[in-house]
Amino acid sequence: MGVFRNENAAARSSRDTHQQEKCSSMDVVMALPKKICALCEEEFELKPDKPGFANHCPTCTAFELEEAAAKQAPKDADQVRYEAEVNEARRSSMKNLLYRKDS
Ligand SMILES: [Zn+2]
Repeated sequence: MGVFRNENAAARSSRDTHQQEKCSSMDVVMALPKKICALCEEEFELKPDKPGFANHCPTCTAFELEEAAAKQAPKDADQVRYEAEVNEARRSSMKNLLYRKDS
């Protein structure tokens, strides 16, 4: 590995660095897969850091995120029940740890 890296550094310093930068940025653009949005059927580039669903375009995702944020204020019954279950599970696992310490 170390030998390989040294060879690379030597090659880079003897070559035109501008050309290498251009090549690597072209690779990033070409690596983005094209997708068809499931909601508006618009073609878009799927970026790795895109929030939301992979088959929804950035425009539709922005609308969805807004809607989700608006919905978050009043909790629905399922969410409340889920949180209660998580709390219950955490409490019982903590109890288990305490009992194990005693015995
Ligand atoms: Zn869309």
